[in-house]
Amino acid sequence: MWGIIATWRMAVEGVQKAADMLKEGGDAGDAIEAAVREVEDFPYYKSVGYGGLPNEEMEVELDAAFMDGDTLDIGAVAAIRDFANPVSIARRLAKEKVNNLLVGEGAEKFAHKEGFERKNMLTDRAKIHYRNRVKEITQQEIRPYSGHDTVGMVCLDTKGKMTSATSTSGLFMKKKGRVGDSPVSGSGFYVDSKVGGASATGLGEDVMKGCVSYEIVRLMREGLHPQEACQRAVSQFDKELRERRGKAGDMSLIAMNNKGEWGVATNIEGFSFAVATENLKPVVYLTRIVDGKCVHEPATQEWLDEYMRTRTAPLVEK
Ligand code: ASP
Repeated sequence: MWGIIATWRMAVEGVQKAADMLKEGGDAGDAIEAAVREVEDFPYYKSVGYGGLPNEEMEVELDAAFMDGDTLDIGAVAAIRDFANPVSIARRLAKEKVNNLLVGEGAEKFAHKEGFERKNMLTDRAKIHYRNRVKEITQQEIRPYSGHDTVGMVCLDTKGKMTSATSTSGLFMKKKGRVGDSPVSGSGFYVDSKVGGASATGLGEDVMKGCVSYEIVRLMREGLHPQEACQRAVSQFDKELRERRGKAGDMSLIAMNNKGEWGVATNIEGFSFAVATENLKPVVYLTRIVDGKCVHEPATQEWLDEYMRTRTAPLVEK
């Protein structure tokens, strides 16, 4: 059995690419890296890699992680600037014995020495988004942080090896140096080939309060199906946050176990995800919450077309 599951519609081209590799017996590390890079390279996705939205200072600072579920090796970068594919740097760091999570300048120095491709990740389109948002904030007090999404994936190959990876520009207009859940083990991602893996997108500040990816893997280890594990972890933690703090940030999680069974849960409307397994062609699902439970159905062609149309529509400066 092989499989790959990923947060958001934007992942589906990557999932397709990974599926092509996995069905030929490809390695879960290579497949997940290729899948995430596909998302990082596409300029119209505003929250991952090239074209990602900048921080307050109009700089694109990226977070990414990679985990190997066989060895439990972890590598991650946070607040890294000017490198094309943070996930590949994270994967490279996972091979080190120490210095596995590098931030800012340290991460950039490492990437430079290792010969990773430099790239100015701030696109003209992202600059327009930035300037528009600055105007909106000063005119109408709009919350600066909307406009984020992480690509988070879990992958299983035919040898039973599992991996997890994330990549994101984090929150639009974040403070310089702000790091979310995505490069943080147990929060943005976790995987153990003996069990399965999970990955998150949402408000990192809240996801980190519950180490939600680890919690899902823990529940799967106790025997829960990935769907049950996701639903229980997300519902319980959402409730916990509301009771203690009056509100809960966005939280959407995907998971897969080492049999290729998968699950998803969210506390928001409109979460989408992409999945492919030996028995399932790459597909985008849309979720809804019905009676407190997350249900999903395949996205219609109309929805998919509209998604691409709005992502690539000309952007005017306000
Ligand atoms: N989790 C990301 C962060 O807080 C953002 C997102 O997934 O929407 O940086």
